[in-house]
Amino acid sequence: MNAPIAFVTGATRGIGAASAVALAQQKFQLVLHGRTAESIAETAAKVASASGLEPLVLDYDITDSDRTRDAFQQIFKRYRRLDVLVNNAGVMEPCALGMISRDALHKTLDTNLSAAILHMQGASKLLARAGGGSIVNISSIVGVQGFEGQVAYSASKAGLIGATLSAAKELAAKRIRVNAVAPGYIDTTLNAGHSSDNHLKNLERVRMGRMGTAGEVADLVAFLSSDKSRYITGQVIGIDGGMSL
Ligand code: NDP
Repeated sequence: MNAPIAFVTGATRGIGAASAVALAQQKFQLVLHGRTAESIAETAAKVASASGLEPLVLDYDITDSDRTRDAFQQIFKRYRRLDVLVNNAGVMEPCALGMISRDALHKTLDTNLSAAILHMQGASKLLARAGGGSIVNISSIVGVQGFEGQVAYSASKAGLIGATLSAAKELAAKRIRVNAVAPGYIDTTLNAGHSSDNHLKNLERVRMGRMGTAGEVADLVAFLSSDKSRYITGQVIGIDGGMSL
């Protein structure tokens, strides 16, 4: 049997890169997305060595809807199917409510929410043709609980949860499962800009007393992508070391 096909967006580093490698270890054929081909080269090499399968690399800005449509056409042309979409690409620019600019708001919503919905739309057609599959949306604990200084970001991630629940209802009859993952405080470049004061304050909220790793989130993504989670849909699954308790 041919390997199932998994498409991971924002796979250049962090949670996206770790998820791609975890899926490659499960012998998925990977389609890797990054803004540029160069930025995805390191993940592509790791994926090839984990699965023995060369990934298809797609480079475009995730907010470009024409390129998004092309991406799904390329996947169809190459593999005639898709089994898993991991909607991972995202940006987080902390900003207090009074300071949010229109441009920053649009960038956050376009990247984290609109692009993810358009990728679900493109994927759902191919997943349906394949007889079903799994969509995993990377939301955030702040989409569930909010966080001071993150009004735009948390709105985008809460929106993604709403989109997840609606798509799960729409697509269940087509045997397509749609779930969201809500990570807490994970050690990636997304969090690299915190002052040491903020870092310590964030850590105080984590009952397990440490940041999570991208690999720990990737294990959950791989589970939700696999047949082991075949009866799970429309769920928002926290992975936060007790931060949400
Ligand atoms: P990183 O900043 O390490 O990775 C983000 C990825 O998204 C990169 O591959 C980046 O590409 C890509 N990306 C962002 N904007 C665009 C764009 N316009 N076009 C193409 N690619 C883009 O972050 P994480 O790995 O931490 O985050 C992954 C996901 O997890 C995000 O959705 C984030 O919101 C979410 N998350 C992270 C948490 C954490 O604590 N780290 C907690 C909760 C959720 P490029 O390299 O080109 O910038």
